[in-house]
Amino acid sequence: MEKFDVIVVGAGLAGLAAAYTLAQEGLEVLVLERGDYAGAKNVTGGRLYLNPVRDLLPDLWKKAPLERFIAHEEVSLMAKERSLTIRYSGGELAEEPYQSYSILRAKFDRWMAKQAERKGAMLVTKSRVDEVIMENGNVVGVRAAGDELRADVVIACDGVLSFVAEKAGLRKPGKAHDHAVGFKEIIELDPAVIEDRFNLEGEEGAARLFMGEVTRGKFGGGFLYTNKESISLGVVVGIKDLMEGKPAVNAPQLLDDFKARPEIARLIRGGQTVEYGAHAIPEGGYNAMGKLYGGGILVAGDAAGFSMNIGVTVRGMEYALASGYYAAQAVLQAKEKGDFSAAGLSVYEKLLNDSFVLKDFKTFKHALTALENPRLFTVYPELAGNIMRDLYEVPDGPKKPLFRTVKQYLTLREMWAMAGDMRKVMKI
Ligand SMILES: Cc1cc2nc3c(=O)[nH]c(=O)nc-3n(C[C@H](O)[C@H](O)[C@H](O)COP(=O)(O)OP(=O)(O)OC[C@H]3O[C@@H](n4cnc5c(N)ncnc54)[C@H](O)[C@@H]3O)c2cc1C
Repeated sequence: MEKFDVIVVGAGLAGLAAAYTLAQEGLEVLVLERGDYAGAKNVTGGRLYLNPVRDLLPDLWKKAPLERFIAHEEVSLMAKERSLTIRYSGGELAEEPYQSYSILRAKFDRWMAKQAERKGAMLVTKSRVDEVIMENGNVVGVRAAGDELRADVVIACDGVLSFVAEKAGLRKPGKAHDHAVGFKEIIELDPAVIEDRFNLEGEEGAARLFMGEVTRGKFGGGFLYTNKESISLGVVVGIKDLMEGKPAVNAPQLLDDFKARPEIARLIRGGQTVEYGAHAIPEGGYNAMGKLYGGGILVAGDAAGFSMNIGVTVRGMEYALASGYYAAQAVLQAKEKGDFSAAGLSVYEKLLNDSFVLKDFKTFKHALTALENPRLFTVYPELAGNIMRDLYEVPDGPKKPLFRTVKQYLTLREMWAMAGDMRKVMKI
């Protein structure tokens, strides 16, 4: 039986940030990862916002394998037969230090695991944790591949369906309502083709979010991020809507249909799909979170439910990095006091409460309810498409005044419904 200061379960961003920070302070850290290598099992859309985590892990960013800095924000309302795309290119997005980058997890996580190992963390891959060892209500270790491994603290960074947090009694099995599922492809293309198709200069990148027909009107959306030599393209759908919403849709087929849309097909033409992944996403937010700590255990990243979709941004990676970092800080403080009980580790929640992590989740705690409105994914994309069609159309007879063209869609009943939608959206 071996004993470590800390066992981290999962070598995703949360686990690696925790391991890196703890090893840097000289603690003996074991990271257990079920994948063949760090990043092998990790799916993301692909955009990391650096501002909130830049100073927490300052030595990482200069050499990190980041892809393109996002200089152009785009949103597409996708109707059945037309779409409306808006592109925002602000000067601040193109100024250093850049706010956000596209990343590829297979590259990034592998590199970050190396940095943690350089600091002294021990990473064991192809090692799945099958059991949590508890004594007197406290977590004292884990069992992996038949080995019993003990530690003062176990940090559960095992992702969205966290087996470890559940076994330790800190969370209940996830509900469909609080989760989405994403399907994603990485499509390789020549960098010059990417720059040409997306109107980019050099290292610039573009990020585009889609809503409407991309999910057949179901709760969710599509995303596209430009990498250096590839495009990350995917679809995310709420699991409850997928299970219960009518008409039923075949979720993986959504991505194929998305790729076949003329607006997308011409962007990826000639590209080679080199990676396909599907993964669940916690979207329940603050109201769906379990306990973040217990005797001998902390929970970080997606395992704690730290992923958030507020319509204009989809974020989880910097919450994973930050919560891993704060989990490490909590362990360091508990070690100083020699108290790894729930009381000793409760400082973790305080650190998160004082940081952007829980502040953001409290600010946006109504986001899910506000966005679960089917009209956002059906009525508005069609409305926007129809208005644009009529505004731009020059008929073979006389043209209606522009105001009347728009007004025909804004009946009293529609305006009333819009006011109701607006009231919900104003809660975000
Ligand atoms: C389709 C999609 C699009 C997204 N888009 C974005 C985006 O653009 N921007 C953004 O910031 N966030 C995005 N997210 C969310 C983001 O990817 C996650 O919030 C983030 O990856 C969470 O990191 P993590 O380290 O907590 O978990 P993960 O990256 O899931 O890592 C968990 C690790 O634990 C390992 N593991 C699990 N169980 C065990 C076990 N029993 N034993 C050993 N190891 C185990 C797994 O193999 C994995 O490596 C997206 C997610 C998806 C699915």
